[in-house]
Amino acid sequence: MAESFDVIVIGGGPAGYPAAIRAGQNKLSVACIDEWRNRDGSYAFGGTCLNAGCIPSKALLESSELYHRTREEFAVHGIKVSGVSVDVAQMQKRKAGIVKTSTQGILALFKGAGVTPLQGHGKLLPGRRVAFTGADGATRELSAKQVILASGSVPVELKSAAFQAPHIVDSQGALEFDSAPKRLGVIGAGVIGLELGSVWRRLGSEVTVLEALPEFLGIADQQLAKEAARHFKKQGLDIRLGAKVTGAKVVGDAVEVSYEDAKGSHSLTVDRLVVAVGRRPFTRDLLANGTGVELDERGFIKVDHQCRTGAEGVWAVGDCVRGPMLAHKGKEEGVMVADLIAGRYGEVNYKTIPSVIYTAPEIAWVGETEEQVKASGRAYKTGVFPFLASGRARAMEQAQGFAKVIAAQDDDEILGVHIVGPMAGELIAEAVLAMEYSASSEDLQRTIHAHPTLSEAVHEAALAADKRAIDSLNR
Ligand code: FAD
Ligand code: NAD
Repeated sequence: MAESFDVIVIGGGPAGYPAAIRAGQNKLSVACIDEWRNRDGSYAFGGTCLNAGCIPSKALLESSELYHRTREEFAVHGIKVSGVSVDVAQMQKRKAGIVKTSTQGILALFKGAGVTPLQGHGKLLPGRRVAFTGADGATRELSAKQVILASGSVPVELKSAAFQAPHIVDSQGALEFDSAPKRLGVIGAGVIGLELGSVWRRLGSEVTVLEALPEFLGIADQQLAKEAARHFKKQGLDIRLGAKVTGAKVVGDAVEVSYEDAKGSHSLTVDRLVVAVGRRPFTRDLLANGTGVELDERGFIKVDHQCRTGAEGVWAVGDCVRGPMLAHKGKEEGVMVADLIAGRYGEVNYKTIPSVIYTAPEIAWVGETEEQVKASGRAYKTGVFPFLASGRARAMEQAQGFAKVIAAQDDDEILGVHIVGPMAGELIAEAVLAMEYSASSEDLQRTIHAHPTLSEAVHEAALAADKRAIDSLNR
């Protein structure tokens, strides 16, 4: 007889593993199947995020930022340093250690929650049966009352610049360079292009970013995007907008890239090229015929607002379904589904999912951009507070950027908060909480913020929405 569980989760990334843990906490018998393999062939839970995404990228962003600040900012603090140099091998070793601790931590969490880890491939069969193929190649059949699909996403490949490691690589390849390429090309000025472009720029690469769209960071509030673009330019990131890549070929140890923009055809020679033009849902060999689970025209698994697929007792969460491809979005979906399965309350508020880009300065937002609010026709007011006016930011030598609050004119509801500046990714949490509770800008205005902290910028931006900021000129 098939081994049976209350819940089987296929995919152990940031959407799948939290679903399994919450199902275990809900006293359900649960197995989590994951097939991720490292370059050395070893299995690891954690998916893209822990193995080749969020965590390794943040490790390198931190190391490269420290190097940059040591060289460029210590002198003004009165700290004299000489002979500062980079050991990329040590940076990579540190990164690998952090990844290993994080991924092994999941096994410990599974043990604590009573989750059965199964490392290998999972395929959904009709009737909530799952074919599991382990490392030895043997396949056995499992069955479950409920199945959660969390198979994630993979990088989009461009026909005009097909991957050809080590010269033309995806984000995982770009996290693994053993030295800073002298000339680095990046296709796509999105989140990955900006984060990984920043890492290698700080470590010495000349970085050119080719972006197809004519406007920079079109998904962000444009006041924020303009401010960020100014800083990236100062840092030496050469971002070329409206650039359509027509070809890329490896010649010797370099890559010749051709692209077109409004001014005509151009070519660019780089030592390494990173293709970062988005990710697509991954569902290869996940679904047998007759499961009743459907994909949409872009390959995402079709789900309702609570992540139910069209098949009874089959759910899907994370990057393989609609919505932003973010680890925290997938996590909340996984937890919601595991709670709904257990008959508990579960909900994801898609309106308050924060976005963070971990560059320096950081970029973070939640809710609507000013362009979106304007298009909605609702009357609104904005308040902007520059970090230049923040004592803490000045003391940190990081008085760049601003916090911006957008609130409705009629009932003062906060509609969006946009921050570019130091620790923006941490500061945005206050705005998320405020919006989760449908706070007004007056609620933020009347909340006491410790002095001197960066969070005062959010407080003052809320005050500025009513022209009542104390520490800035309310422009
Ligand atoms: P994944 O993390 O892709 O995990 C899916 C897992 O399922 C994988 O382990 C896969 O091997 C496994 N799997 C798939 N099919 C099967 C099968 N049939 N059988 C068994 N196993 C299967 N997001 C953020 O929120 N913050 C960040 O800072 C951030 N940084 C990023 C940096 C980079 C360079 C990249 C590439 C991404 C980053 N992301 C970030 C995005 C984030 O990594 C994804 O949104 C997140 O990993 C999605 O989680 P998931 O569980 O849906 O999918
Ligand atoms: P993205 O969607 O953020 O950016 C892709 C960029 O490439 C866009 O600006 C797009 O206009 C451009 N582009 C598309 N086709 C192009 C072409 N042919 N030539 C030139 N430019 C082209 O995608 P990404 O940076 O690859 O990241 C993938 C996903 O991973 C994102 O959805 C993101 O949410 C997630 N991610 C999140 C974080 C974070 O939260 N900090 C970090 C990294 C990745």
